[in-house]
Amino acid sequence: MKRHIITFMTCVGMLNAFAAPNDNGVKEVKLGGYIGQRIDGCIEKRVLGQSVDELVDPFKVQDETQGRWASEFWGKWIQGAVASYEYNHDPALLEKIKEGERKLIATQLADGYIGDYDKEHQLHGWDVWGRKYTLLGLVKCYRLTKHKEALEAACKLLDYTIKQIGPGAATPIYKTGYYRGMPPLSILEPVTYLYDETGNPAYLQFAKLIAEQMNHPEGPMLIDKADVPVSQRFVLKPGNSWWSFDNGQKGYEMMSCYIGLLEMYRLTGNANYLQVALTTWNHILREEINITGGACSLECWYGGHGKQTHPASHTMETCVTFTWMQFCERLLQITGDTKYVDQIERTMYNALMASMKHDNSQIVKYVPLEGFRREGEHQCDVRINCCNANAPRAFAMIPRIAYRMPKADRIDINLYMPSKAAIQMGKRTFDIVQETNYPVTDEVKITVTPDKAAHADIALRIPDWTPKAQIKVNGEAMDDVACGEYFIIGREWKAGDEITLKMEMPARLAQLNQAAAIERGPVVYARDSRFNDGFVDEVVTIPNLNGAIQMTAEKAPQDMWIAVSVPMVRGTYNDASVDTRKIHLCDFASAGSTWDEGIRYRVWLPILYTPDNPKSGQVQGYW
Ligand SMILES: [Zn+2]
Repeated sequence: MKRHIITFMTCVGMLNAFAAPNDNGVKEVKLGGYIGQRIDGCIEKRVLGQSVDELVDPFKVQDETQGRWASEFWGKWIQGAVASYEYNHDPALLEKIKEGERKLIATQLADGYIGDYDKEHQLHGWDVWGRKYTLLGLVKCYRLTKHKEALEAACKLLDYTIKQIGPGAATPIYKTGYYRGMPPLSILEPVTYLYDETGNPAYLQFAKLIAEQMNHPEGPMLIDKADVPVSQRFVLKPGNSWWSFDNGQKGYEMMSCYIGLLEMYRLTGNANYLQVALTTWNHILREEINITGGACSLECWYGGHGKQTHPASHTMETCVTFTWMQFCERLLQITGDTKYVDQIERTMYNALMASMKHDNSQIVKYVPLEGFRREGEHQCDVRINCCNANAPRAFAMIPRIAYRMPKADRIDINLYMPSKAAIQMGKRTFDIVQETNYPVTDEVKITVTPDKAAHADIALRIPDWTPKAQIKVNGEAMDDVACGEYFIIGREWKAGDEITLKMEMPARLAQLNQAAAIERGPVVYARDSRFNDGFVDEVVTIPNLNGAIQMTAEKAPQDMWIAVSVPMVRGTYNDASVDTRKIHLCDFASAGSTWDEGIRYRVWLPILYTPDNPKSGQVQGYW
């Protein structure tokens, strides 16, 4: 049996400066099970169900004077539509994309502008931010449809923008938006894509100017302040609100800028762009991301990791959730490190799935860790909001994360769920079938069928949360399976070869600030008042042995995915013989998923303080 293990080198010097995704060999992916159904539901309701005219209408009249953001919705939605089409190849969806492309291009003015701002108010509010989404949408359309009109429209809009804020212009880019200019500066990403498509040196020059201004002392200083925790980079002056220009903490706009800098790293090979993105990513993970893989209060960094046990205003915007996944995906493509998939998986099962109503009809704007979920408002006189427009991009990302080809002779299996993939490796095709009930159960069976016996590397992601994993190929156990990295099986595969992966998945107790939360595998659990087994906010004592707890599978009620029970001692009397009860919990995504405000749920359960064991509830940190 030939086998070997490779630990990825993550130091910058070892990276290929021009590392780009090479997923061309993944011909077809079909995901089933819970995640597959949710993706299908999102495409049906949020992508196909969207009226194109409602998104294009704002572009037909240039009368925006209040600095609003109606011009972001089309670009967000159509990127979700293109990514969804790349997954399901639905002809009706392709027609809808073409309709969106055609109707948007028809709104372009003679000078190249596409937007809804009146001439005097251009370059204020969210105008340049909106152009970013228009450019991204047009370039994604062009790459799919090959319609040269889409590329021409994007170039005309970019040329017009460069005249206004490009090299030599009087107005600096960072002055054309809020939050120390991060929203307009995030236009960097599509500028790099249009340079890819055209090779126009003016676009590279503009991209360099944007990257430079990202570090301007009056701007967000995304390079020089990369070492500073993201919530502490700028101290707000007394009297300045979260919404003022001085606030450099807006979460998803900041991550969008770093995604642009990663594209600059790809174009220029300048490792500093990668380094500042990696440093910032680490800060965000350590100081902001909560147990469900979401972040932010009022859409801003606030040191939320350490404060997550306490309710915070407007928690976990879904746009933040998606952009975090996007940031992780881009770093996965560049570094090949499984830690980015670990984060995507956690966010996917928890923060992202929690964002969509149980019937897939709506995406929520904020997902608190306790309380209830509520439909977001319509924004800017359009029957949609930022998160409803953006989130389908996150759902459509999942299939391309699940199976990736980092190089021509290797397939990475990153996510475990019932699924099928057809992979082209040179002249050979490989059909891969996963059968599993993961993460309810801990075992995955993978059948590999090449059209003719052939060599390939098949890499399995071993999650960082599992203490031990076992892999067998055709019944033969593999040695040295390490957790938190890929296990690569390089061999000649023949039809029907079978891999089994078993990951130990103990239920575990996370503790922080006199509160406890329960996790198993990648899933976080919550109490939910629909179980009718006490008050979800009451103080509890959870018997555990070094964090390991007893969990029993239960039948999930309607509108819930996974239900379990854990014995807990309720209340302050703490008399185990009288007060111990089987307390039910459901996966965080199912908690409050009907958006009925009469339902309450809670992730972080208050735990009892006892003077004879004062440290019982004060264990800091949980991973
Ligand atoms: Zn949003």
